[in-house]
Amino acid sequence: MDSLNFHRLLNKQITKYLSVDCLNQEPFQHFIKAVNESYFNFERDKELFEHSSQLNEKEYAEINEKLKKEIKQRRLSVDKLIDAIYSLEEKEGLDASKIIDSNNLSKLVDYLQIQIDNRKRIESELRIAKELAENATQAKSEFLSMMSHEIRTPLNAIVGMTYLMQQEEVSDSLAENLKILQFSTDNLHALINDILDFSKIEAGKVELEKAPFDLKQLISNIKKANQVKAEEKENKIKLMIDDDVPNWLIGDSLRLGQIITNLVSNAVKFTKKGSITVELTLQKRVGNLAILGFSVTDTGIGIEPKKQQLIFDKFTQANSETTREFGGTGLGLVITKKLLQLHNSDIHLESEAGKGAKFYFTVELEIASDVEKFKKDINLEFHEEDILKGVNVLLVEDYPVNIKVATKFLERWKVNIDIAENGKIALEKFDIGKYDVVLMDIQMPIMDGYTATAEIRKIDTKVPIIALTASATLNNQDRAFTVGMNDYITKPFNPKELFNKIAKFSVKL
Ligand code: ADP
Repeated sequence: MDSLNFHRLLNKQITKYLSVDCLNQEPFQHFIKAVNESYFNFERDKELFEHSSQLNEKEYAEINEKLKKEIKQRRLSVDKLIDAIYSLEEKEGLDASKIIDSNNLSKLVDYLQIQIDNRKRIESELRIAKELAENATQAKSEFLSMMSHEIRTPLNAIVGMTYLMQQEEVSDSLAENLKILQFSTDNLHALINDILDFSKIEAGKVELEKAPFDLKQLISNIKKANQVKAEEKENKIKLMIDDDVPNWLIGDSLRLGQIITNLVSNAVKFTKKGSITVELTLQKRVGNLAILGFSVTDTGIGIEPKKQQLIFDKFTQANSETTREFGGTGLGLVITKKLLQLHNSDIHLESEAGKGAKFYFTVELEIASDVEKFKKDINLEFHEEDILKGVNVLLVEDYPVNIKVATKFLERWKVNIDIAENGKIALEKFDIGKYDVVLMDIQMPIMDGYTATAEIRKIDTKVPIIALTASATLNNQDRAFTVGMNDYITKPFNPKELFNKIAKFSVKL
C-alpha cells in the first residue's frame, strides 16, 4: 500500500473509533500532530536514505572504475619503466632483474635516475673523445698536408729533371735507369697525392663541386691519358658510350674523372695483352636528372673472392707482390669508394681470379640545359710547342732547383723568362704590359704569392696570374682565387699542364 492510501485508512479508523470530543481534546491533537510529524519525517528520511544509498552506489562504482584505471595505468608505467631499465642495462651488460622491484615505484624511479645519470656521464665522455679524435684527425691532415708540401717541392725538381733528361739523346743503359727513376717518381707522386686526398676526404674536407662539364669528352680524355701505358702492355681500351647519354651534365668533373681514372688505370695495370672496356649507359632519366651506369671491365689477372672486400680497405692490395711488380699505394680504391659515397653511390665488383674484373657503379647527375654558354678549354696539343714562342713570362719562385726546372721547360718552348725570387722582387720588376703571364709560387720568404698577387691586382687587373705551388689543399686554392689569381698548377707540375695553361692565357687564337 502506498503512503497516501495508508493515510486515508488511518484517518478512517481514528474517526470511526474515537468520539469527536475526544478527537478535539488538546492532548490528543498534540499526540496526532506528533505522530504525523514523526511519520512524515520517517518517510522523508526513508526517501533520503534510499536516494543517498543509490547515490553512493553510483559514486562508488565511478570511483572504483577510476581507481582501476589508475592502477592499470600505474602498472603500465611501471612496466615501461622496467623495460626502459632493462634496455639501458642490456647496453651496459648488467643484470637489472636482481635490483628491480616492480612494486616499489619510488625505488624504481631512483634506480632509473642513477642509470640516466650514468648515461649522461658516458655521453659527455664520448663527446670529449669525439672532439679529441676530430682534433687529432685535423692535426693529422694538417701534418700530412704540410709534409706533402715539403716532399712535393724537391719532387718537382726530380720529376722535371727526369723528364728533361729523357728528352735528350742518352745511352741505352742511362735511358733504362731514367725509366726506373721515372717509374719511382711517378709512384711517389701518386702516393703523395693519394695520401693527401685520402686525409682530406677522411677529415670531411672534400665537397663536390657543381659545374657543367662534357662527360663524353671527359671519358675520352681518360682513355687518351691511359693509352700509352695500355699500348706498352699490349692492351686495347674500348669505349662503349650509349647514344642517349647527355653530353653536358652538372657535377664535379674532377672527382668523377678521378673515380674513372682510378678504375681504368688499375685495369690497365693488372691486364696484359688484353682489353679494357669502359661502358657508359643512361639507365634512367627523370626530369632533368640522369642516372648513369659506369663500368670498367678488364681481361686481366682478376681478384680471388676472399680478397674482393679487402681491396677497398686502406693500404691493402690483393697480393703482397703487387707493389713490387705494379707499384701503387693501395689507396686508389678506398678513395674511389669514398668519392662515390659523396655521390650517394657505391662501387661494386665482379671478378674471378685469372679471368679479369668488372668494377661498376651508378651516379645521378643533373643534365645541363644551356650548353652553349659553356666554353670549352683550349686543349692545345703538346707538339705545337712553338706557339709559346715570344710569350713573356715572369716566374716568381724562391727554390733554386725549381727555377732551373721551370726555366728549362720555358726555354724549350722559346718563352722569354724573367725571374723574381720572392714577391717583393716580383713587384719591383712588374710593369703593366711587360708580361703576358705571371707564374707565382705561393710560399716564399719576404713576401708570399698571395700578397704579391693582391699588390699586382691594385695596379693591373688583367695580367693572367697562375699559382704554381706545392700546396694542394683546397683552402689554398680558394685563397688563390680570392686574391685574384686566374688559375692554379700543383707541383710537381705536369709539363703539358703548364704548357696548356700558359697557352690558354697568352695565345691569341
Ligand atoms: P693500388 O692500385 O694503388 O695498389 P688500389 O686501391 O687501386 O691500390 O687497388 C688495391 C688492390 O686491388 C690492387 O693492389 C690490386 O691488388 C687489386 N686490384 C684493383 N683493381 C684491380 C683489377 N682491375 N684487376 C686486378 N686486381 C685489381
